[in-house]
Amino acid sequence: MTVKRVLSEKGSDVLTIQPHRTVLDAARLIAEKRIGALIVAEADKVVLGILSERDIVRAVSEKGAEALSLPLSHYMTKKVVTCTPAMTVRDVMSMMTQGKFRHVPVVENGHLVGIISIGDMVKQRLAEMEAEASAIRDYIVTA
Ligand code: AMP
Repeated sequence: MTVKRVLSEKGSDVLTIQPHRTVLDAARLIAEKRIGALIVAEADKVVLGILSERDIVRAVSEKGAEALSLPLSHYMTKKVVTCTPAMTVRDVMSMMTQGKFRHVPVVENGHLVGIISIGDMVKQRLAEMEAEASAIRDYIVTA
């Protein structure tokens, strides 16, 4: 199963935020949209960084409430691991395991075209396991 196929089912909408916006702006957007991370980008959709809820917790634990009014670029991860639509779900799962993060932006020709979260991976894997179990059951019944 490719990343492209996952995106065709879940859609390619990705919430982005500009790097000069504050940590509080990011926290509000994350809470309002019920997501775990924001891709940091300008309107051209070139990935500049990623800011997850963990980064916000780290910011507040380091600086207290003062962190909330700082530009989020202070706390985003700048070296972002990305994938392409042609990669497989297995590739992305191993990236997440190795890097210990739960979000991977999908980039094509230098531009953001989607995002894959660990929740998408779990959903995908469950569907595959159910399909395998059903195929085995059918085989046993008809054998
Ligand atoms: P997460 O598990 O996705 O909430 O992120 C945990 C940490 O990894 C945070 O510091 C994120 O900024 C960072 N992070 C999340 N996704 C990526 C990624 N694809 N590449 C690099 N760092 C990431």
